[in-house]
Amino acid sequence: MSTANIEKLQQLETEYRQRIEAIDRDLHQQREPDFAEQVTQRENEDVLRSLKLEAEIEHRRVQAALDRASKGTYGECTRCGEAVEEARLAAMPQAENCMRCASAV
Ligand SMILES: [Zn+2]
Repeated sequence: MSTANIEKLQQLETEYRQRIEAIDRDLHQQREPDFAEQVTQRENEDVLRSLKLEAEIEHRRVQAALDRASKGTYGECTRCGEAVEEARLAAMPQAENCMRCASAV
């Protein structure tokens, strides 16, 4: 198991957490918009919510990978149990499946 991948995971964990917090701050910025602004504000909120959802999904994947690292199963495909390719983990340290299983989904 490569410790570089774990360091990257920890970095990603912080990044996604901060991104979610920043989006939350934006979402909770309450102001009194006039009628014309309300539509724009709603659209902005929709965009922010979908960005937040994306970040939350990735954040969970990163946390799950860190969890596997602490259990010593990091780098094993959660589907077939084979080793996930090094290049794949280097590009996406939170990858939970090997190339074969990922393309079979
Ligand atoms: Zn697999």
